[in-house]
Order: sequence, then structure tokens, then C-alpha cells
Amino acid sequence: MRVVLMGPPGAGKGTQAEKLVEKFGMVHLSSGDIFRAEKASGSELGQKLAAIMETGALVPDDVVVEMMAKAIVAVEGSGLLLDGFPRTVAQGEALDETLTKMDAPLDAVVIIAADDDEIVGRITGRRSCPSTGKIYHVEYMPPKVEGIDDETGESLVQRDDDKEDVVRQRLEAYKKQTQPVIDYYRETGKVKIVEVDGMQSPDSVFADIAAALEAGEN
Ligand code: ADP
Ligand code: ADP
Repeated sequence: MRVVLMGPPGAGKGTQAEKLVEKFGMVHLSSGDIFRAEKASGSELGQKLAAIMETGALVPDDVVVEMMAKAIVAVEGSGLLLDGFPRTVAQGEALDETLTKMDAPLDAVVIIAADDDEIVGRITGRRSCPSTGKIYHVEYMPPKVEGIDDETGESLVQRDDDKEDVVRQRLEAYKKQTQPVIDYYRETGKVKIVEVDGMQSPDSVFADIAAALEAGEN
């Protein structure tokens, strides 16, 4: 199965990706995670990416497309869960080209919707495990012991860009640059579009997504 997961920052893409991978076993490729790993490597490219990400603006398409195409080709033959990519129409077109070359078309585009106010509350309370990336929320999905990952015992961390002013910028970028990607997929008419209400509990959101994806399997 090859699926694109879309939705504004904080809608719950990463949270649902964990559950989808567990159930369907596809490879999860998060552009944000790939960029943060590059940043953590301390490379020159990583420093450039970090400077952009801190402002809430999007990384330029040519950089994104090159890094994501490489990641996708590297897992050729596996199921694919793309999270956070594509985020512009140009990225969507480039993805189509890559997948066409691999003879591996998308099965579905899943869009998780959530209100702006809810998003800000979710993002400012988001914490994650520095090594596994497991996602928590200080209030909605707290770890068993405050500030500590349930499995590894490590201290949870907050992302540099998960501050309210940056979140507002990211929301703007989503509305201006990423929402047109949904229209792009609608216009091509080649892929199933699944719209899910992200304002429910994580388990209910997951049940909706899983049911829609399973309905598409023959
Ligand atoms: P969230 O899941 O909260 O929306 P991400 O981890 O997906 O956040 O993205 C964090 C930042 O990484 C974005 O604000 C942007 O700067 C950069 N980024 C991630 N994916 C893309 C992309 N496909 N195109 C451009 N920039 C991206
Ligand atoms: P995204 O990848 O879309 O940016 P995340 O999955 O990281 O979003 O979720 C953002 C924050 O909201 C996290 O702290 C997560 O624990 C929390 N969260 C995710 N889904 C829900 C939900 N359905 N209800 C309440 N909180 C949620």
C-alpha cells in the first residue's frame, strides 16, 4: 500500500503514522523527521534546513524533492507512508514522476482535518522521545512518568519550532502552499482521497483511516 498522509501541523499525522505502520507494515517516511536527522548530523545542509524550519517557512522544493526522491527510491518495493510530503504542487508533480518511474502509483491520499485553535494547543504541548521519535502530549497523551519516555526512560524533548508564533507561520504555509496539493490530487482523479475528522480521539481517527484504506483493498 502506498499512502500520502496530509493535514495541518499538529493534526495528528505522526501519531496516526505510528498506528498505520503497526497495522499495515509500510515504511514511514516523514520529511520533517528526515530534515531533523540531517540537522542532528551537523552537516552544512542540516544547518541550512534548521535555519528555515525555525521560522516555520517551507524548505525550497528542489532540496525537498531531491532528499525525498532518494529516500523513496531507497525503499523501492516496500509499502510507503509519506508524511509531510508533498507540501507544494511542484512537490506533488515531482512525486508523481518518481512513482511513475518506479511503476508504483499511490493508493490513497489521507487528509486529517483539525481546527486552528486545537492545533496550537496540540503543538505547544507536543513532546517526543529523542531516540525513537515516539510522540506524546503533556495533557492529551501524557507519558506514565512526567517528561520521561515510557519505553526508553529518556527525557522527552520539545521541537525548536513548536512555539506558538512559529506554529502560526506553519499554519499559514499550510493554507497557502499545501492546501492546493489537495486540489491537485482531486483534479488528477487518479487516487482515492480520504478525508478524516482529526478532532476525535486518536483511536477513532485511526479507525476511520483504517476502514477507508481497507475498503480500497481487493
Ligand atoms: P508538522 O508535522 O508539525 O507539520 P513537520 O515535521 O512535517 O511538521 O515539518 C517541520 C518543518 O520542516 C516544516 O515547518 C518545514 O520547514 C519543513 N518541511 C517538512 N516537510 C517539508 C516539505 N515537504 N516541504 C517543505 N518544507 C518541509
Ligand atoms: P503532526 O504530525 O500532524 O504534526 P502529531 O501526531 O505530532 O501531529 O500530533 C501533534 C500533537 O497532538 C502531539 O502532541 C500528539 O500527542 C497530539 N495528538 C495527536 N492526535 C491527537 C488527537 N486525536 N487528540 C488529541 N491530541 C492528539
